Amino acid sequence: MLSLYYDPIYTEGLDPSVRFPRERYRLLAERLQHHPDLHIKRPRAASREEILRAHQADYVDNFLAGKLSAESMRRIGLRPWTPAIVERTRRITGGSLQALEDALRTRGIAGNMAGGTHHAYYDCGSGYCIFNDLAICALTALLQPTIRRVLILDLDVHQGDGTAAILAGHPDLFTCSIHCASNFPFRKQQSDLDVHLADDTDDRTYLSCLDRTLEKIRPQDFDLILYQAGVDPLADDALGKLALTREGLNRRNQRVLAYNRQHDIPIVIFMGGGYAQPIEASVDAFQDLFTTAAALSI
Ligand SMILES: [Zn+2]
Repeated sequence: MLSLYYDPIYTEGLDPSVRFPRERYRLLAERLQHHPDLHIKRPRAASREEILRAHQADYVDNFLAGKLSAESMRRIGLRPWTPAIVERTRRITGGSLQALEDALRTRGIAGNMAGGTHHAYYDCGSGYCIFNDLAICALTALLQPTIRRVLILDLDVHQGDGTAAILAGHPDLFTCSIHCASNFPFRKQQSDLDVHLADDTDDRTYLSCLDRTLEKIRPQDFDLILYQAGVDPLADDALGKLALTREGLNRRNQRVLAYNRQHDIPIVIFMGGGYAQPIEASVDAFQDLFTTAAALSI
């Protein structure tokens, strides 16, 4: 049984006029809700203290109080904001933390049907990302004495710049990002390992590159994998610039998730980006992601 976290506020906490495919969460939940091997749970709201593990107090407090500057909000996007964006953000972060707890407790796979907000920095948000749930989860995991080394594997088409910046200098937290070189963010940060792909990279090139990268970083040597599984490398994606097929993306996910069964490593799945127009191709790919994970969790 695969634990997944979802709340209707993932969609409803964004204004209906937002230039962001907010319906993807609701559509995905509708497709997955009767899946026999999935247990979809409501997330709790993350606490201020949990968020502070990765973020500056002024930034966190201003956001929670609805007092971020217009410039800070512009850099994040997702406008126009409604007051519900605060609760939405806290629940998405809470869902990631609960998926982390489930994965560690069962030594299995668990996921959040949102999150992977990898563009958020220590003291500001960016690119649809407010709090960096990957960094919060990585720093939270290290509080457990049994967790010594964590791999943050970011396969979203955009570089995990915020995660790389927040976690830089932590020798026990290894950030690896495989992304499109010419895509946002245009000023890249330095992950522990960055792999920059050319525009229009196809399944074959992508998967052989992934295999070489996995051989190099040896995920089996870590105590936990935080997997940012964005589906925006899809050829159908409006923002991605790569050329993966649905099948290629599914094979990508299988290769990563296999480290759970083959090496007993707990894995947390963060949903990440997906911006196909219409959105159905992204929802298809997210559905594949979670049903593949469920099949491995039986
Ligand atoms: Zn992305």
